[in-house]
Amino acid sequence: MRKTIFLCLIVLAAAPIGGAAPIRVVTSLQDLASIADSVGGERVETFSLAKGYQDPHFVEPKPSFVLRLSRADLLIVAGLDMEIGYLPPLLDQSRNGKIRPGNAGYLDASTGCEILERPRGIVTRAMGDVHPFGNPHYWLGPGNGRVIARAIAARLSQLDPPGASEYRANLARFEGRLAEGEKRWDAALGPFAGTEVVTYHNSWPNFLKRFRLVAAGFVEPKPGIPPAPAHVVQLVNLMKQRKVPVILMEPYFDERTPKTIAGRTGARLLTFIPSVGGVKAASDYVALFDHDVKVLADALRVATRP
Ligand SMILES: [Zn+2]
Repeated sequence: MRKTIFLCLIVLAAAPIGGAAPIRVVTSLQDLASIADSVGGERVETFSLAKGYQDPHFVEPKPSFVLRLSRADLLIVAGLDMEIGYLPPLLDQSRNGKIRPGNAGYLDASTGCEILERPRGIVTRAMGDVHPFGNPHYWLGPGNGRVIARAIAARLSQLDPPGASEYRANLARFEGRLAEGEKRWDAALGPFAGTEVVTYHNSWPNFLKRFRLVAAGFVEPKPGIPPAPAHVVQLVNLMKQRKVPVILMEPYFDERTPKTIAGRTGARLLTFIPSVGGVKAASDYVALFDHDVKVLADALRVATRP
């Protein structure tokens, strides 16, 4: 007995006091934090500036964000100007050179991802368009989730070389879960390939492409621009003509207009969750797709019933 206690004490003494300090990761989106958690495991501590139930384009800056950024080892952003409205001044105030663009502590998650709707020619913010460099909601394609996870694993290994094998193993586990998920999601949505849907904001091109669904139109005339009556009339006519069965709405928009459109067309209005944490069930990146795919497949099954 005494010998066992003695051995335990030696083991405790050999471990660093309180364990090694975690790598502090700040992300703009909860989805990026979730993937960083999966890949980083216990070696990282993550904090997301935007919460999953908030519009990722319009995040209210808080003084506590500056503190988080000032202590961060790694900042992961969606890029494509998603954070342009709030992050640059926070980054300045944090006075943390490590996490500025161009340094090892800054990771733009869009690098290497499939980005849809990239503009050709000169980029303008015509009519206040909030997608000037292509669609910034690209994490909603699971293939891009895989790319993001690999980029995070590589960057964490660079910042924390002793953790490299752990990051590699965690990444393999994440990719395995994602591949299993894709089989489930393909099986659930496969029967509805080619179905047209309307979405409130243009958040879903990667999701729709991956599952072979089609956006017939949007409640917003342009990303970030609220619907005007003439646009609504046009959309209602189009939906009636094409028999669009569902309207997908992100949880942070006013539901009055989409409700009116649903009433006039007979389409079902679904709250569709674009980020981890948007509802309790969307507790991590894989669970987010499990949730959305189920909501959509259930609704399409009812709508397309003969
Ligand atoms: Zn957007």
